[in-house]
Amino acid sequence: MTTKYIFFTGGVVSSVGKGVTAAAIGRLLKERGFSVAVQKLDPYINVDPGTMSPYQHGEVYVLDDGAETDLDLGHYERFIDVSLNRVCNVTTGQVYAEVISKERRGDYLGGTIQVIPHITNEIKRRIGLVAKTTGAEIVLVEIGGTVGDIESLPFLEALRQMRIDVGRENTIYIHVTWLPYIGATAELKTKPTQHSVRELRSIGISPDVVVARSDHPVEDELCEKIALFCDVERRAVIPLVTADVLYEVPLILEKLNIGDYLLERFKLEQRREPDFREWERLVQEVRRKKPTVRIALVGKYVELHDAYFSVREALEHGGLALGLEVQIDWVHSSDLEKERGWAVVKNADGILVPGGFGSRGIEGKIRAIRYARENEVPYLGLCLGMQLMVIEFARHILQSDDPNSTEFDRTTEYPVIDLMPDQRSIADMGGTMRLGLYPCQLVKGTRAAKAYATELVEERHRHRFELNNAYRDVLQKGGMLFSGISPDGRLVEIAELANHPFMVGTQFHPEFLSRPNRPHPLFAAFLDAARRRAGIPDRLQEVAQEVPAPEKSAAVVS
Ligand code: GLN
Repeated sequence: MTTKYIFFTGGVVSSVGKGVTAAAIGRLLKERGFSVAVQKLDPYINVDPGTMSPYQHGEVYVLDDGAETDLDLGHYERFIDVSLNRVCNVTTGQVYAEVISKERRGDYLGGTIQVIPHITNEIKRRIGLVAKTTGAEIVLVEIGGTVGDIESLPFLEALRQMRIDVGRENTIYIHVTWLPYIGATAELKTKPTQHSVRELRSIGISPDVVVARSDHPVEDELCEKIALFCDVERRAVIPLVTADVLYEVPLILEKLNIGDYLLERFKLEQRREPDFREWERLVQEVRRKKPTVRIALVGKYVELHDAYFSVREALEHGGLALGLEVQIDWVHSSDLEKERGWAVVKNADGILVPGGFGSRGIEGKIRAIRYARENEVPYLGLCLGMQLMVIEFARHILQSDDPNSTEFDRTTEYPVIDLMPDQRSIADMGGTMRLGLYPCQLVKGTRAAKAYATELVEERHRHRFELNNAYRDVLQKGGMLFSGISPDGRLVEIAELANHPFMVGTQFHPEFLSRPNRPHPLFAAFLDAARRRAGIPDRLQEVAQEVPAPEKSAAVVS
């Protein structure tokens, strides 16, 4: 089948959930039997978000192939349950870097390089790569920002041309807007939506579908008004009211028949009946009143919860599987250094230290980890959280405050965490870390091996530093186990403490591979340990007791 394209643009304001909308629509199409991939076009000039502060951008989401991408890629992977690749996140920086290096090579000798056609052609080439590299039949393309931004013009122009290149029957434009609510008159307003559609039209794109996001119920009349003024069918105006449960969005959109409408426009027959029973169960489970475990998340960017988006999601997925409400208590690590925030840490059933860079707040995190070790509080350390767990333990067994990572103290006497040898000669900061999927051999009998219930796993990485092998012996003698090792034996990937209910640190980022219906085993094991500490009975065992033992069936008896 010819590749079908759905393009998502945003209007009125940003942050209205365009990424979640695209991801959910992808799910509707996958449920109808089509293979789907999603691409995000980001108009900023950075080559990727890897060099941006989480304050600017939120989490950097890492793919199997090591691409450092926008956090929307996380939504796509979690909602659609696909593994995407590096062509699925394109930035202005990448596009210009490519065109300029071709120009230097002489590929365009004699020509003047211009936004149209050179930049737009490169954007279109990259859109084309998605179907080629993923085999997707339907490619969803989301463009970051809102219509009217100067930076997004070349991208919109490329999208406009796509309809001419691949045909009207193979392209759908979806414009996602926002309906502001005027409190004084208690009404929703469509005018900004009309304006942004007009702006889009002036660029040459007429949307086929308008998704009108709102915090309040949208009356039918309003949808008719949008249809009339924006020149789209009434059926193609989709009022999408903010959902309190993220994973309800596909269910809401399914009820609004957008999946059927899109197939109709593409003249495609659905290949199977969509089955949302698992999603419905998931949403019911989110809403069900469950016993609460409190997890103290000790981080550096805690004011901005988006900086830890996948960690939050992975905790939620694990909680759903275990029948637990996971309450995340955000703790600013530098507060702990000033003797603030300790009540929250001491109240927690589990402590988690996520990934991070730079020295601010490091000692606060180490103190939280010491508290977890000494008080037998379940602990999960992710990347930096694993490195700091090793540093804390080294300080304890060597009876010295000096053990450190050379990231924070270049001249430490005990560099228990150090640059990887292949990182030493690297000067560039962008895209040069140890990135993406690497295999990890689990050591039998350890907590990690029990949690995974397998011997070899692959996990996504994003780091420059690692456990210094010169300290393996001394740490092991002190009671640290290396429960996951790279198959060549060179790198410690998982460390844990033998004499502790649950103290596990991973050099990789398990949060990127957690899915709503497939929680990550280490998150589940961590939450299970937190449940035990909180004195909450094991739901799985309770369920087993409630269900009477099966009687021997006739077949077995005979
Ligand atoms: N800063 C550490 C390193 O580069 C940890 C990175 C992380 O937590 N992602 O190794």
